[in-house]
Amino acid sequence: MLQAIEVDPRRFCKDAQSWEIQSDVSAFPRLALEFTQGALFCRVVGRADALGGLSLKLTVHGQVELTCQRCLGGMPHAIEIDRTVYLARTETEMERLDEMPDSDAILVGEILGLVELVEDEVLLGLPMAPMHEKGKCPVIGAE
Ligand SMILES: [Zn+2]
Repeated sequence: MLQAIEVDPRRFCKDAQSWEIQSDVSAFPRLALEFTQGALFCRVVGRADALGGLSLKLTVHGQVELTCQRCLGGMPHAIEIDRTVYLARTETEMERLDEMPDSDAILVGEILGLVELVEDEVLLGLPMAPMHEKGKCPVIGAE
């Protein structure tokens, strides 16, 4: 299992720190429950703009296997996440960021868990009920 990677979000962004890992999905506490196999490359890079706004550039790429809800067989699924997440330090800041179009903001405290952050983003992007295309389940008699 991966150790929790906890950072001070403010320092992480201001110092333009980065963290990256290439790991099997079974090493992620929550992803191990969703995927039967696969590996992910994850990178988180901190950024601070001239006005003091903090953001993280998040990259998660990989090929994983989900369980088809119809036949319970394995189903390949590509993860391709490239996005910027804005960090709000107060409720007011969060409201302001939420009003921006296409903004992806999270409220952070003194400590930010990077493994959890990556897991949240991956889980948010998953289909609710993954299924092979109708009639394409590889198991005979599954329909
Ligand atoms: Zn299926």
